[in-house]
Amino acid sequence: MRPSIFFKVFFWYAALMIVLLGVVLIHSIDTLRDHYIETLTANLSNLGSAVALKVSPLIEAGRSDDLDSLTDGLGRETATRITVIDTAGVVIADSEKDPALMENHGDRPEVARALDGYTATSKRYSETVGEDMLYVAVPLTESGRVTGVLRMSLFLEEIGGVLGRLRNRIIAVALGALGASLAGAFVFSRKLARPLRHLISVARSFGEGDLDARVITKGGAELAELAGSFNVMADRIKALVSELSYRREELAGVIETVGDGLVVLDAEGRILLGNDGFRGIVGERDLDGRFYWEVIRVTSFADVVGAAREGGHALAEVQIGPRIYSCGASFVGSREEVVAWLHDVTERRDMERLKKEFVDNLSHELRTPLTAIKGFLEAAIDEADPKAREYLEVASKHTDRLAHIVTDLLTLSELEDRCTKPDLEDVDLENIVRAVVKIFEQAARAKGLTLEAHVGSDVPPVRADAYKLQQVLVNLVDNAVKYTDAGKVKVSVERRDSTVAVTVADTGIGIPEERRDRIFERFYVVDKSRSRTQGGTGLGLSIVKHIVLLHSWDISVASAPGRGSTFTVTIPIETTRSRQS
Ligand code: ADP
Repeated sequence: MRPSIFFKVFFWYAALMIVLLGVVLIHSIDTLRDHYIETLTANLSNLGSAVALKVSPLIEAGRSDDLDSLTDGLGRETATRITVIDTAGVVIADSEKDPALMENHGDRPEVARALDGYTATSKRYSETVGEDMLYVAVPLTESGRVTGVLRMSLFLEEIGGVLGRLRNRIIAVALGALGASLAGAFVFSRKLARPLRHLISVARSFGEGDLDARVITKGGAELAELAGSFNVMADRIKALVSELSYRREELAGVIETVGDGLVVLDAEGRILLGNDGFRGIVGERDLDGRFYWEVIRVTSFADVVGAAREGGHALAEVQIGPRIYSCGASFVGSREEVVAWLHDVTERRDMERLKKEFVDNLSHELRTPLTAIKGFLEAAIDEADPKAREYLEVASKHTDRLAHIVTDLLTLSELEDRCTKPDLEDVDLENIVRAVVKIFEQAARAKGLTLEAHVGSDVPPVRADAYKLQQVLVNLVDNAVKYTDAGKVKVSVERRDSTVAVTVADTGIGIPEERRDRIFERFYVVDKSRSRTQGGTGLGLSIVKHIVLLHSWDISVASAPGRGSTFTVTIPIETTRSRQS
């Protein structure tokens, strides 16, 4: 575990204090000791100078007894050992010992120096008294001549005693100061750490989900700023979280209330989320943690999910029990999830089936009487007088139109059936174009129109349902001839990059721009009376569009009213090749 900031501050402060105090203590004790000895030396030297005034006359007079008693007396009074040495180094008086028993002191460094005429000091071990001593030797002079040495000495042990007491007192004061400063450091570091600890505990509570936790701004400017920034950040996070949870709830509400079934699957196919609609469809209440194949045992649903994982999106019809669903799925790559939805289309399919059955039945039922009426009308025309023939011919024309409508309705009904698939084969467009042109040659000639056809030599065979492709061309050329009064109709087939373009262009009446989008609708005609007189049903282009969609081709129209129209069916060659291979 990392040490706390409190411990760190306190530890380093304490360490610094101890080291500093140690250095100051050692230095000050040394300085004090040196200063004390220096002062003592100076005192001894002064004392020596004073005593020398008394000693010198006694030496001159050779009164060694008086000298001895003088040193004894002065030594006791000043608590100093006083020794008098002659120029030969012989001790002639001493306040502590009998001079007769003392060895020659001429070799003692302080004595030797004093004999040279200088005041000298020395700290060393005394052979005579057997202890460390401080010596100060003062030369005794008479008319500039050295007559002896007066040596003052103190026991260093005594000095040590005094110094020791002083040192102890300094150490005691220093320890007191250290204790006080450590206590101060303790309080200071706690004070410094307290707002940080508060910040940490608030941050922890916030992280654990208490979004109302806020820092009380305390401490120095930096800490106050940090606390302020933390609070601002907390406010923003809280606002964001509330916004997110609001959106989540809103989304969950929408997902739940939507009538369709919605399910989210993870990478393994486990159900992460399923709405009420989905539960209703699969008839299971508990979906949590279950795999989707445990609740939907339909392979077509698994196929949609698989296709979405591979291609991003997939759409298919899925039958679950008696009901039919339009099922879509999307792969969410970033999360490896699949979102699938099921929309009930049973009713719509039933309606479509009913409508188809109705149209089929009606058309079949109409066909037989229409054929009979047509037959009778033709027979009647042959036998009728000119006036009646005119009426009968109009009736016959309308019967033809009715028969056309019935045929077109049946064709459309078949094309709209989801089960209808094109009967694909390789189709040579030239043959088809030639056959279609042949059909309309007569009609075009009757209207004085030129009917042209051109098929490019580089046009490959296309993969198509030949009958239906021919129907497309028949309807387009039929319209072109119908809606052109003068000029020409041209059918051309050419290769354009990876597609084959089949174009039917005319120089007819054209189609106003605002109507162009609607002409592919069932029963939509631009000019009703014209369409009717031309025998139109309004279903021709609708059939064309259905066949084009059935093949996944494309159809477009360009037109200029009064100048003509061009219909282009685009057939991709890629599809052709891949289908061939
Ligand atoms: P219809 O049987 O009436 O021709 P279609 O579905 O074939 O029905 O065409 C729908 C309408 O589009 C026509 O009624 C006509 O108004 C218009 N139309 C189609 N082809 C042409 C064309 N080549 N030139 C002008 N108008 C056209």
